[in-house]
Amino acid sequence: MMRVKLPRAKGGAPRKLEEMKFRELINIFDGEVSYFVRASAVINGNGLTRCVTCDKPMGEITKFDCGHFISREELNTRFDLRNLGPQCTVCNRHHEGRKAVYRQKLIGREGLEAVLEMESKVGKPCFLSHDDLIKSIRGYRAKNKVLAEKMKGI
Ligand SMILES: [Zn+2]
Repeated sequence: MMRVKLPRAKGGAPRKLEEMKFRELINIFDGEVSYFVRASAVINGNGLTRCVTCDKPMGEITKFDCGHFISREELNTRFDLRNLGPQCTVCNRHHEGRKAVYRQKLIGREGLEAVLEMESKVGKPCFLSHDDLIKSIRGYRAKNKVLAEKMKGI
């Protein structure tokens, strides 16, 4: 299973989440949520995953991204599954996520109200705590374990 590489303490022992800085936890959480979004897409499409914005069929899980509609800079929506989708690297990395198309697709998938609600959080402070992050990371790790098992059957 693809997993974010954990930063190691001197001597090579893996560090506990509790010992990590907020920024490190954010990066780890990014990796777990990204895996969750991509693996879910692969499973739901039974191996055929389409790009959320251009609809192009994409290859295996390591060949596409978890694209954010609202930029990752915005912590309030960074891990909101409504804001995320499987996206090809061309759309995500070379066309800045094709935001206008993404918005239309999300209105179709999540509803206008959800999109407006997420947009209303842009620029607002986020109250995610160190403990919240650790709890969320552990929750996603458990879910991803299940998804990784399901992926073997595809
Ligand atoms: Zn695309």
